[in-house]
Amino acid sequence: MSDDWQSIDMANPTEEHKMLRSMLRDFVAEEVEPQALEYDREEKFNLDLFRKLGEYGLLGISVPEEYGGSGMDATAVAIVNEELSYSDPGLCLAYLAHAQLMVNNLAHNGNEAQKTRILPKVCSGEWVGCMAMSEPGYGTDVLGMQTTAKQREDGHWVINGRKMWITNGAVDEDGTPADICWLYARTGTDSKGRAEVTTFLIEKGMTGFAVGQKIYDKTGMRASNTAELVFDDCVVPSENVVGSVGDSMIHMMRNLEIERIGLAAMGLGIARRSLAAMNRYASEREAFGSEIRDFGQIQRHIGESWAEYRAMRAYVYDTARNTDLEKSGNRLDTDGVKLFGTTAAKNIADRAIQVMGGYGYVGEYTVERLWRDAKLLEIGGGTLESHQKNITRDLSRSPEKIEE
Ligand SMILES: Cc1cc2nc3c(=O)[nH]c(=O)nc-3n(C[C@H](O)[C@H](O)[C@H](O)COP(=O)(O)OP(=O)(O)OC[C@H]3O[C@@H](n4cnc5c(N)ncnc54)[C@H](O)[C@@H]3O)c2cc1C
Repeated sequence: MSDDWQSIDMANPTEEHKMLRSMLRDFVAEEVEPQALEYDREEKFNLDLFRKLGEYGLLGISVPEEYGGSGMDATAVAIVNEELSYSDPGLCLAYLAHAQLMVNNLAHNGNEAQKTRILPKVCSGEWVGCMAMSEPGYGTDVLGMQTTAKQREDGHWVINGRKMWITNGAVDEDGTPADICWLYARTGTDSKGRAEVTTFLIEKGMTGFAVGQKIYDKTGMRASNTAELVFDDCVVPSENVVGSVGDSMIHMMRNLEIERIGLAAMGLGIARRSLAAMNRYASEREAFGSEIRDFGQIQRHIGESWAEYRAMRAYVYDTARNTDLEKSGNRLDTDGVKLFGTTAAKNIADRAIQVMGGYGYVGEYTVERLWRDAKLLEIGGGTLESHQKNITRDLSRSPEKIEE
């Protein structure tokens, strides 16, 4: 047995991970925190700051170095998301849509020509990416998707349909679409009427690709742009098909695993910030002649939040450690950690508001924004109900997991 196993901190397992976290803490304090409140209020995406993430090697965090990435693992992805979300979950959602939903997917599933041509641009921040799976009428029921792709005689594909709720779908207020969109479309139908799904790389400027609308007035994540995308006889060359036709379920499922870890890690950042805020305030605020931290009901808010935060931290980094970005196979825990971590984050932000009273309820004190942002984590990347369904199904197939 190795004698140093007790000294391993799962959240910072190597020197490289520690340095990444420390670099991010400085970057977040200097560059992210000062703009977070304003961009949330104005419902605007900070594109310049987003591009800066590329200068720090964060946009291609899980991409091999030969394509312009940083060649790091799922633990590094969790670290970046946790640290960015400590300050600005909205910016982090835009980052996740690009780095985890589009870039990581291409790095692990694209062919050599696609990777060589596109990865350097998305790793540097020259191009902004998005991933389009959901539709106006189909979210959880993803294989009901109605966006179709048909191949013409000249080999090109023609895409028709609409995608909804696409983070980074529009990059500004003028309806400029993302530079590159990882699109899932129906290229066939199986005997049960379910979609056979194929991935297409859609590039800005392709005929028939446009932003339908930017979606305003979201509860939270207002510093990220969410858009409807329209494909109207959109013509795509065959070299922009990823993998084999009809075979995209494999990489869709594989990439959902890192997405869920990423979203749970965002919850962790929200939880840590909320806990720090309520803990500090409980000493500063006095009522009835004592600090409010002396009251049993306030102690319950702080005590429960600490315990949940610590449980989240262990589960997020244990799941990240066990997730190989090259393979799928960790659905049970990626569903589990998102199910637990997102609601825990929302509850901890909620308690922070409660502890801080009226101050907690206004933007300047941050926790109300974190609470609004946390709610999205229970919906995006799979609803709580979808995680419950997947976990129950997986445990019926593999009950031995419980006894491991
Ligand atoms: C801010 C934001 C950003 C997003 N970004 C993206 C993105 O970048 N790309 C993208 O493709 N999508 C994105 N989404 C879409 C998101 O993934 C979907 O909203 C989510 O998957 C749920 O789909 P839906 O909204 O259609 O709800 P539905 O699937 O219609 O669900 C409605 C309700 O029914 C429940 N339900 C559905 N099926 C079942 C079932 N079998 N059993 C039990 N309950 C069920 C759900 O859990 C939910 O409570 C984003 C959404 C938001 C709000």
